[in-house]
Amino acid sequence: KESGNGPGWLFFSPAMHDRIVERVRLECELRRALEQDELRVYYQPRVVLGAGIIGMEALVRWEHPTQGLIPPADFIPLAEETGLIVPLGEHVLRQACLQTRAWQESGFHNLRLAVNLSARQFQDPHLCDLIGAVLTETGLPAEWLELEITESTVMNDLETTVHTLERLKQLGVHISIDDFGTGHSSLSYLKRFPLDTLKIDRSFVRDIANDADDAAIAGMVITLAHALNLEVIAEGVETHEQAAFLRDQSCSVMQGYLFSPPVPNDQFEALLADRRWT
Ligand code: C2E
Ligand code: CA
Ligand code: CA
Ligand code: CA
Repeated sequence: KESGNGPGWLFFSPAMHDRIVERVRLECELRRALEQDELRVYYQPRVVLGAGIIGMEALVRWEHPTQGLIPPADFIPLAEETGLIVPLGEHVLRQACLQTRAWQESGFHNLRLAVNLSARQFQDPHLCDLIGAVLTETGLPAEWLELEITESTVMNDLETTVHTLERLKQLGVHISIDDFGTGHSSLSYLKRFPLDTLKIDRSFVRDIANDADDAAIAGMVITLAHALNLEVIAEGVETHEQAAFLRDQSCSVMQGYLFSPPVPNDQFEALLADRRWT
C-alpha cells in the first residue's frame, strides 16, 4: 500500500504493533518466571483488636531479575487472559499452604490462610481435586484454608457455581466473597451459595469515618453478614478512626496498612513472634 490511510495501515499501526509485541514479551517472561521460580508469596495479617493475628491473606509478587518487585496488578490480568493463572495459582496455593502448615507446627496453631482464586481457576474442572491434593500433600487441615472469590466469579453460571462451591465445602475449606458490594449483582445468591465470609471492599472503608453514605453501606454489609450467620472482614483499614468505627459496628476482623502491608514470610514471622495487637 502506498498511502498511510488504508485499513491495513490502520490495523498495523505502530502503536498497536508495539502493544502486541509488549504483550507477547510479557507472556514469555511470565512463563519463564514460573519455571525459574521468580514468584513470591507475601502475607498480610488479619487482625482482631485485642486478640492479635488470626490469619493472613496470601498475595503474589513477581521478583523480576532486572525490574525488581512487580505488583500483581501488572501481571495477573495477563495471566488470566492467557490461562497462565492456573499454574500460577497452583504455585501460590502450594507455597502458602506449606508455609502456613510450618507456622502452625511452630506453635501458631490457629492461623487461617486466605488465598485468592480467579474466575478462570474457579471454572477449571480440576480445581477441587487440586485443592484436595495440595491439602493432603502439605498436611494443612482444610478448615484452615479460605478461598477468596469475587461476586463476578460466582455470578458466571449459577448451576456450576453451586456445584463447585458444594464440592469445596465437602472438602472442608472456607469460602469468602472478596470486594463485596462492588459487583453490581443481586443479593439473592447469598442464600443459594454455601458461603462463610463477606469481605467489605476497601472503597467503602476508605471514608467510613467521615462519609455518611460509606458508613451506611459498610454498616449494612456488617448487619447483613451477621443476619446470614456469615463472618465479616474489613479490608483496607488504614487509620485508627476506621478501626474504631468498624469495631463499634461489631466488625472485629480487619486487614490493612494500619496493621501491616503484605510482607515476605520472614517479616510475617516477626509479626507473629511479636504478638502485636493482642
Ligand atoms: P485483593 O484480593 O482485593 O487484595 C487486596 C489488595 O489491597 C492487595 O493489593 C493489598 O496489598 C492491598 N491492600 C491491603 N491493605 C491495604 C490498605 O490498607 N490500603 C490500600 N490502599 N491497599 C491495601 P495487591 O497485593 O497489589 O493485590 C492486588 C490484587 O491482585 C488483589 O486484590 C487480587 O485481586 C490480585 N491478586 C494478588 N495475589 C493474587 C493471587 O495469588 N491470585 C489471584 N488470582 N489474584 C491475586
Ligand atoms: Ca483478596
Ligand atoms: Ca479485596
Ligand atoms: Ca480488590
